[in-house]
Amino acid sequence: MANLSIDAVKKMTYDAIVIGSGISGGWAAKELSEKGLKTLVLERGRDVQHVKDYPTATKHPWELEHRGRPSLEVQKEFATRKGKVDEATMHFFVKDAEQPIVQEKPFTWTRGYQVGGKSLTWARQTQRWSDFDFEGPARDGFAIDWPIRYIDLAPWYSYVEKFAGISGNRDGLPQLPDGEFLPATELSCIETHLQRTIASKYKDRQLIQGRCAHITEPQPIHLQQGRAKCQHRTMCNRGCPFGGYFSSNASTLPWAARTGNMTLRPHSVVHSIIYDEQKGKASGVRVVDANTKEVLEFYASVIFVNGSALNSNLILMNSISSRFPNGLGNDNGLLGKYISWHNYRGKISASYEGLQEVTIDGRTPNNSYIPRFRNLYRQETDFLRGYATGLGGGRGTARSTDGIGANLKANLLNRTPGNWHISAWMQGEVIPRESNHIRLHATEKDPYGIPQLVTSCDWTENDDKMVQDYLEQLTEMFTLAGFTNINAVDTHSAPGADIHEMGGARMGKDPKTSLLNKWNQLHACENVFVTDGACMTSTSTQNPSLTYMALTARAADYAVSELKKRNI
Ligand SMILES: Cc1cc2nc3c(=O)[nH]c(=O)nc-3n(C[C@H](O)[C@H](O)[C@H](O)COP(=O)(O)OP(=O)(O)OC[C@H]3O[C@@H](n4cnc5c(N)ncnc54)[C@H](O)[C@@H]3O)c2cc1C
Ligand code: SF4
Repeated sequence: MANLSIDAVKKMTYDAIVIGSGISGGWAAKELSEKGLKTLVLERGRDVQHVKDYPTATKHPWELEHRGRPSLEVQKEFATRKGKVDEATMHFFVKDAEQPIVQEKPFTWTRGYQVGGKSLTWARQTQRWSDFDFEGPARDGFAIDWPIRYIDLAPWYSYVEKFAGISGNRDGLPQLPDGEFLPATELSCIETHLQRTIASKYKDRQLIQGRCAHITEPQPIHLQQGRAKCQHRTMCNRGCPFGGYFSSNASTLPWAARTGNMTLRPHSVVHSIIYDEQKGKASGVRVVDANTKEVLEFYASVIFVNGSALNSNLILMNSISSRFPNGLGNDNGLLGKYISWHNYRGKISASYEGLQEVTIDGRTPNNSYIPRFRNLYRQETDFLRGYATGLGGGRGTARSTDGIGANLKANLLNRTPGNWHISAWMQGEVIPRESNHIRLHATEKDPYGIPQLVTSCDWTENDDKMVQDYLEQLTEMFTLAGFTNINAVDTHSAPGADIHEMGGARMGKDPKTSLLNKWNQLHACENVFVTDGACMTSTSTQNPSLTYMALTARAADYAVSELKKRNI
């Protein structure tokens, strides 16, 4: 700062800086700017404006250059999304060369670097966590105790749900608290069939409709955002021109912009957070401009770190000062450790020869869900914790390719319904362990001169046993429902394929064993808040993003009140 004129510094100075504009950064931007703070949002990727920048949103398959399947050359550029690259959405995912990593152990890291982050491409499943999750580590003796309980977050869940628009049923399940729901979408008839089978055969298990961030009945707050009712096109992850599902681009960012208090700066790769040794707090951030590679500094009184779990760890680890030689706030050496994720290794599919009289009408952007039932009230298996299940079902069609000329055409046009089919995927809780960690590589750098991340994360016996149990239990439920062709597999996929990375800067009560306090504030640098997946003490079986939204809104409220009291 010393060489800059006071005016130049003023131009670069804001009340708050938010790093990242994805799901959690969008909420930080909205809350801080709505509360009157001049807020700078730094986003490493390009700008993506709602509707205007959704290039494939209304394209038919034949309008995509390769009918949706990109060339092998292009697929190679997305090695971390092997087998999942789709021409209609690939512009919202990161090519490996943009940010190479060193995989000490295999790690499939899915990233979306643009304004809106992964909020454009997520699957929108939004369940609240319960005290089975927040009390889990203390009860079952792993990781450390969460510094909060469900009661601390419940009002903030309500707050974010009302604004985002969450559809679902009030199912009254203790492990899956009900929320502020818009009407639920419908189950398919094969899911209803399985639901009835499970209800009749098990006391402890339920199949319910998923809770998802789709507007099924717009409320005034959604119309004020310019969003409309979901049309069930199921082309969501191309960006939705109706704003039918929640994304930062459709919802929180335009809302923040409207306050006049937000400045959004795309192409701004945050290198590190600047620590002011004299003041004993962070004074701003160092940025590499992605286009010019110029290094810039921006200053603010409060900083929200929302780069997504692993990137937020990276930024903190790369923020070196005399006070923090091992990374910002890292007095206990635990930064980057206890990385955890969800276990999606178990997959099962089947077909059903019944219900031939029922056909499909329309589509659904949602899926059904079997909440966790294992080890809820007592330890009943030889592995810790449990799993939830996502399910989707439908009825395919078959067509004959016999004949030539007019006959062939007629056969191709004349589809006949096939059997009903169903598939399910596991979402298991992975126990955070110190050995599962990420760190900075000593010499390898990314294109912006920032150290590359080394990923060192692996499965344990607990995960293997859980997958085994999942496959057995789902096979049993499918068999009882009369399903045939049951195919249950352990994919043995690498960690990270499971898209819900968490931990590394966990919340806790004790600065000796955690990085963040109950307000998501770094214990050792109180004007820095981390409210994305990096803060998570354990992983639950529920999807995480709704919890990031609630934690972010709560932390922003606290940060502003602390700023007003001049405590930070
Ligand atoms: C296919 C898929 C399906 C998913 N489905 C679900 C689901 O159903 N339910 C659920 O809860 N979650 C789901 N997730 C996970 C969900 O997308 C993430 O939990 C969520 O997006 C995390 O929010 P975030 O703000 O932490 O990160 P992101 O949304 O990833 O945003 C982070 C932003 O920070 C930016 N950034 C990163 N580093 C820097 C830097 N150094 N400088 C500046 N900017 C930076 C990135 O470019 C990005 O825009 C899914 C993810 C994927 C990929
Ligand atoms: S299903 Fe709904 S949210 Fe998804 S693209 Fe269609 S209208 Fe939009």
